[in-house]
Amino acid sequence: MKTRFAPSPTGPLHLGHAYSALLAFGMAQAAGGNFLLRIDDLDQSRARPEWEQQIYDDLHWLGLHWPTPCRRESNHMADYDAALDQLWDMGLLYPCGCTRRDIREALSAPQDAPREGPDGLIYPGTCRPDRPLAGPRPKDQTLRLNMDAAMHHVREALPLTFTEGGAGLSGETGEILLSRNAMINNVGDVVLSRRDAGAAYHLAVVVDDAAQGITHVVRGADLFDATRIHVLLQTLLEVATPRYHHHVLIRDEHGKRLAKRDDARAIAVYRAEGMTPRDIRQKIGL
Ligand code: GLU
Repeated sequence: MKTRFAPSPTGPLHLGHAYSALLAFGMAQAAGGNFLLRIDDLDQSRARPEWEQQIYDDLHWLGLHWPTPCRRESNHMADYDAALDQLWDMGLLYPCGCTRRDIREALSAPQDAPREGPDGLIYPGTCRPDRPLAGPRPKDQTLRLNMDAAMHHVREALPLTFTEGGAGLSGETGEILLSRNAMINNVGDVVLSRRDAGAAYHLAVVVDDAAQGITHVVRGADLFDATRIHVLLQTLLEVATPRYHHHVLIRDEHGKRLAKRDDARAIAVYRAEGMTPRDIRQKIGL
């Protein structure tokens, strides 16, 4: 059993992160397994070394430990490029020049009200080509997954499934099925590489979990829907699908989800106020 906690060094860790990390660490310990820390610093425009250092300090203070050095995504861009090349060569990616505004405008026709998927607005397909594109993968353009073509490619493996040990926001648990229609209508052509930043989270997380041999992914229920994208990419790239455990989200006293900007609930702030790791565990119900 191998699990991981993969924070982004773009702000302070808060109580929600503490919950996720402690839960994953506890599950690994209970199973005699391994807990890995992975630094999700794909977004180099927002990642900062001081936030990364704060992650190490906070997690050590909470009593967690992990093998070092830990994987940092920014060191593995070549791995993500190789996966993108593979998908491109399979004819499943296409370049897209649409801005957010273009997408909104294309979706403003009254018959199809804009709908949100796990990755923002469901793409209307403006740039989707009729047939797979030839030639080398364009390196400086945003690339989307052609969901229809991707689902066609995996047709012999349908229905795709994954095992959910926790539950998504809508309470789904057990064996989760991914149907072709739901993938096309409710997920759509997601972005896998960005013009200015390279590989997107959905691609990197799949490559990383496979490279590290992760068997159990423990993370917040807000990522449950995105898991469908990850399971599809695992199938396309022919890597194993781990088990998933999406946990409840820690909320503030008004019932609102905690976000990075909730600096008042940063672990570092509680530490500075004299709280102990035990107080933190108690606060989040562990
Ligand atoms: N960096 C991502 C986050 O904090 C990781 C998500 C995941 O565990 O897959 O949301």
